[in-house]
Amino acid sequence: MQPILETKNLTKVFFRGSLLARDRIVAVDNVSFKMYRGEVFTLAGESGCGKSTTARMILGFEQPTSGEIIYENRDEKWNPRVWYTQRIQAVFQNPFETFNPLRQVEGYLFETVRNYKLAASRADSERLVDEKLRAVGLSYAEVAGRYPSEFSGGQLQRISIARSLLVDPSVLIADEPVSMVDASLRMSIVNLFKRLRDDLNMGILYITHDLATAYYLGGRIAIMFRGNIMEMGPVHEVLMTPRHPYTHLLRECIPEADPDRKWQGRISIAETEQEEYLRQGCKFAGRCPHVMDICKIKVPENYMVDGIQVKCHLYSDQKIVEEVS
Ligand code: SF4
Repeated sequence: MQPILETKNLTKVFFRGSLLARDRIVAVDNVSFKMYRGEVFTLAGESGCGKSTTARMILGFEQPTSGEIIYENRDEKWNPRVWYTQRIQAVFQNPFETFNPLRQVEGYLFETVRNYKLAASRADSERLVDEKLRAVGLSYAEVAGRYPSEFSGGQLQRISIARSLLVDPSVLIADEPVSMVDASLRMSIVNLFKRLRDDLNMGILYITHDLATAYYLGGRIAIMFRGNIMEMGPVHEVLMTPRHPYTHLLRECIPEADPDRKWQGRISIAETEQEEYLRQGCKFAGRCPHVMDICKIKVPENYMVDGIQVKCHLYSDQKIVEEVS
């Protein structure tokens, strides 16, 4: 089966500090994965692990330093205007930021119809908008003439997803889509992603710090730490039987979403994060209970352990992964 979206050695380097004393932070370090139609692929990890920077590069908000993003087997050489808006759509963390409080919500939907020339008449536009709203459990009648403040966070997130669906994307990138939605409504949004995956055969790239929803969605998961994929494989297998010491730790201690996450350009990282990003060898060596001398000097390879890709010297007797699957 052809992947619908693939990254090959995707890398993003930021520089921090003054011209004379600059630190080179590799925020995303040779990240390679493939995702397929009808699949949920999760990028998970703590704040500052590189998962959102990876998403930003796929969406064209950030230019990769090196590496490739391949959509439907075509290497578009990071030309987001060509394929991002047409084939890949995104849903973000805060639905209240997506909509101007002074503008009726339907305006966003009809604007997308107009921009992409998706309908020939007002009646066709309304039919299309209603169809997509029904796909997310709403209808045009429920939305018409209303402002963002008249909806719950969960409803606004649904409307945001409906807007994404207007262009019939084949990939939906969902970046922490439920972290600001009331706990009682979270599962309904997560179930909606399951439905979109199954009914529309979409590929869903789910970005989260929340391992519980990742587990519930199923599919495959890549656990990221300081720009690196530490462990990757079927989500149930990875989370129930973690091989990598970091996955063990993450499972025991699920961190909160970072409310200060920056979407534009600069990155802001705490001291310990910076130390970890600059660390030679394995980035997790400073916290790992199994650390060995080699971990402090040599970056581990990706090893294949019972069908799971693991970046850790503990598995150096296993086969090195030549190409991600
Ligand atoms: Fe721990 Fe070493 Fe494995 Fe890194 S490579 S996770 S430090 S054992």
